[in-house]
Amino acid sequence: MTDTGLHTRIDFAGGADLVLGVVGWSPQKSLWWSGMLIGWIVAGTIWFSWSAVLVFILVSAVTLCLGHSLGMHRKLIHESFDCAPWLERVLVYLGTLVGLGGPFGMMVMHDMRDWAQRQRACHPFLSHQSGIARDFWWQLHCKLHLDQPPEYRVPDRIAQDRFYRFVEWSWMAQQLPLALLLFALGGVGWVAWGICGRVTVSVFGHWLIGYFAHNDGHRDWHVRGAAVQGFNIRGFGLLTFGECWHNNHHAFPSSARLGHAGQMDPGWWVLKALERIGLVRNLNQPEDLDERPELERFSRGSDQTQPFDPRSPQPDT
Ligand SMILES: [Zn+2]
Ligand SMILES: [Zn+2]
Repeated sequence: MTDTGLHTRIDFAGGADLVLGVVGWSPQKSLWWSGMLIGWIVAGTIWFSWSAVLVFILVSAVTLCLGHSLGMHRKLIHESFDCAPWLERVLVYLGTLVGLGGPFGMMVMHDMRDWAQRQRACHPFLSHQSGIARDFWWQLHCKLHLDQPPEYRVPDRIAQDRFYRFVEWSWMAQQLPLALLLFALGGVGWVAWGICGRVTVSVFGHWLIGYFAHNDGHRDWHVRGAAVQGFNIRGFGLLTFGECWHNNHHAFPSSARLGHAGQMDPGWWVLKALERIGLVRNLNQPEDLDERPELERFSRGSDQTQPFDPRSPQPDT
């Protein structure tokens, strides 16, 4: 199968430009994350308990793995496996609870970046290549306003879905039902850690992994002609549920499997378990995807610490 999703969702017909634009403070983004951080520090300290920390870990794992990695990223955005609509909605809802955005917002954010990185050049906001301090400020507190942005179309199947429209409209407020449940079960401390601490760490971690995944690490693949390459961040497979294998993802965007031989990919393990009980099917793997002429492979196991010269690709082994 081909990776056509992104290409049909972004329309360059109007002469869009992914390089020229200004980065400006986004009150919503900035206050959302800062408010969560302050709430976590203050209430999480006053009402600290080890049970609250456990809630933080458990709810983070469920929302990041099932919600963000499987629901939002591997299913909604990349359509890398099939499942019943109810299951997709459950997974996407869990993904919304991560606190990064609703389903439409996540698709736009992901696709603009992914598409931009495949071009010959793009704005440093989209490539994460402006230094770690500035990138932190930009990604967690600001928005990029392109001079000539491309048109973006959320596919009808998703755009017309009433549930997704409602979740998109109310994505921040979707923390409230979970907050009430946690409050009823464990009091303020569980809310401070299970909502404020979790959203703070999830949003920060998402940015930090995204920063390193586009700047430093190991590569098995090179995408010729792309402004930005993805990197695999070794040792973070478990913690990121497989999302750290970003060099693989740049090479095989529509694969449901992110970790290749020996690379831990808990998201993939969950998908295989769900497949065994009949809840998901048609899981794409790299070998199922069409060959990409722009894709080159490094010799297996090489550390790409030197700048890669695309004119002298290393032989496939
Ligand atoms: Zn990327
Ligand atoms: Zn992706």
